[in-house]
Amino acid sequence: MGVYAVTGSASGMGRAVADRLRRSGHSVIGVDINGVDVIADLSTPSGRRDAIEQVLTRAGGRLDGAVLAAGLGPAPGAERPRLIVQVNYLGVVELLDGWRPALAATGSAKVVVFSSNSTTTVPAVPGRTVRALLRGDAEQAVRSVRVFGRNAPTFAYAASKIAVSRWVRNRAVTPEWAGAGIRLNAIAPGAILTPLLERQLATPAEAKLVRAFPVPVGGFGDPEHIADWVLLMLSESASFLCGSVVFVDGGSDAYFRADDWPRPVPLRRIIGYLRRMRRFAAS
Ligand code: NAD
Repeated sequence: MGVYAVTGSASGMGRAVADRLRRSGHSVIGVDINGVDVIADLSTPSGRRDAIEQVLTRAGGRLDGAVLAAGLGPAPGAERPRLIVQVNYLGVVELLDGWRPALAATGSAKVVVFSSNSTTTVPAVPGRTVRALLRGDAEQAVRSVRVFGRNAPTFAYAASKIAVSRWVRNRAVTPEWAGAGIRLNAIAPGAILTPLLERQLATPAEAKLVRAFPVPVGGFGDPEHIADWVLLMLSESASFLCGSVVFVDGGSDAYFRADDWPRPVPLRRIIGYLRRMRRFAAS
């Protein structure tokens, strides 16, 4: 039986995952702002440092896996974009960088990061916001969405999830992660009926948007079903899963973007592609 760190384990999908892991006999170190083993505010640098250190201490320096589910939705508010990028992006990448040695120590750890289908279905998310996050410049990311006024949280949210997905795909394939036996992947849910979505549905303007959004299979997703997917992504069956973003969204992404992916490598990128092949062969 393994030891798993789960952020956002006090509510919604993080809680469903933590409950499943415990019921299967694993030890779970829950991280959240309230009501769990490690109380830490992931919207602050000191909270993130605390979460890293306390988990490492409790796990004795060895983790079989981690699930990064803590997140804030695109609720209204002037401070919301800042909180979103701090929790949804820095609250994932800083924790994973801090926990990486403990994940490597077990030799076959699995990590699942919560992304979202907002990554591919929110139109016109500014590239500069995503790039600022990938550089670690959260302040610049927040400034870059101010132009959207009261819609800024929607763009900050989608950008935070795009950035975290790209971070996962870039890190997953490197010697420090894949080479250390760590399988790093993301799950991209659609609208799942958790307290986060319930809060959106309680605001009439947001509820209208959520309900109007195309979901080909209809309705909302069940957090327990998402927990099943995460458990599979933490199991030995996921040994060959690396850098994937698994969409479980009732078909919304396919509805909007069916012809956007898979795509062949474009001719203009052949040189870079061949360079990467050579680099891999030499490594
Ligand atoms: P939720 O609100 O039920 O749970 C999120 C958890 O994150 C809560 O326990 C909350 O306390 C914790 N959290 C928030 N801010 C924190 C902070 N500053 N420090 C520590 N913990 C903090 O939400 P959920 O729907 O279960 O969402 C889980 C993940 O899935 C999130 O990353 C969310 O963005 C993502 N997601 C949700 C949906 C959806 O429709 N529910 C869709 C796509 C992606």
